[in-house]
Amino acid sequence: MLRFIRNNNYCKPTDLQVWSISISNKMVGINMVDNKSKIRKNPSKENPNRVEILMTEFVTHDVKRFIVEKPKGFEFLPGQATLLSIPKPKWENEFREFTFTSSNDDRVLEFTIKRYTEHNGVTKQLHLLEPGDEIVVHAPFGTILYKGRGVFLAGGAGITPFIAILRHLYKTNQLKGNKLIFSNKAVKDIILEGEFRQMLGDDLVLTLTEDDAEGYEHGMINKEMIQKYVKDLDQKFYICGPDSFVLGMKSILEKMGVREENIVGESFVIAGA
Ligand SMILES: Cc1cc2nc3c(=O)[nH]c(=O)nc-3n(C[C@H](O)[C@H](O)[C@H](O)COP(=O)(O)OP(=O)(O)OC[C@H]3O[C@@H](n4cnc5c(N)ncnc54)[C@H](O)[C@@H]3O)c2cc1C
Repeated sequence: MLRFIRNNNYCKPTDLQVWSISISNKMVGINMVDNKSKIRKNPSKENPNRVEILMTEFVTHDVKRFIVEKPKGFEFLPGQATLLSIPKPKWENEFREFTFTSSNDDRVLEFTIKRYTEHNGVTKQLHLLEPGDEIVVHAPFGTILYKGRGVFLAGGAGITPFIAILRHLYKTNQLKGNKLIFSNKAVKDIILEGEFRQMLGDDLVLTLTEDDAEGYEHGMINKEMIQKYVKDLDQKFYICGPDSFVLGMKSILEKMGVREENIVGESFVIAGA
């Protein structure tokens, strides 16, 4: 069984080719969002599928990418998530939300998962799993879907729905005009820095709340930072991160005059994500 674990801080663009097995050029159009009947808003334990882990790899010091089998006929939209559980005694009834970071066209599923080691939770257990082990994937859900050109504001592991959406836009030549402002504590915490730099170029702003490093903004995303990089407020603003991040960003955007219907947000409801 293939096992591929590396301790680099981020994935270089060329690494993509190692794991991304796209079987078709036919893309699932982002505008499938219009097909409302397909979208489950809330987590669901329906449609459990035991799938084998094919590969794991560190993408930062505490975030791992998991490549797992994709159940036959399984479909999801970029930005959607699922409940995962571990089919082992004591863990099989612990369900946690994780976002698909692969494309619906890939033959495998990818998850990008940050572990919390301070207690024995599901993410700590997931990080202990190895190729050949199994996890249970359930029905896709979630409504943080692409609704048009905009600014993506992410805090920490809240980047995961945007990984899927931005990759999809890049593959389908629709990324131009979108911007990502991504907040982390330190350089070592930035998920997929290399890939984002390659896909987004000048449309990527990385800010660090603890580190002060050249080439990065310093401090939390605030009104001044948004004004510096975003001239047009009449576009979509996608927000994902811990509760406090989502509420903070919403409040800043509203005060700046962004229309409520242009704010698309999802909270990861987790401290310090
Ligand atoms: C829609 C959605 C999509 C998501 N997608 C992703 C994703 O793609 N990738 C990702 O990494 N995360 C994602 N998350 C967050 C992920 O679901 C959580 O990280 C996960 O549920 C944590 O599970 P856990 O069992 O390890 O921690 P839990 O037991 O659920 O604990 C959660 C928090 O409480 C703290 N905590 C709880 N108990 C203790 C204790 N005894 N001592 C110390 N601290 C404690 C933990 O540090 C942690 O901050 C998503 C969340 C949502 C809502």
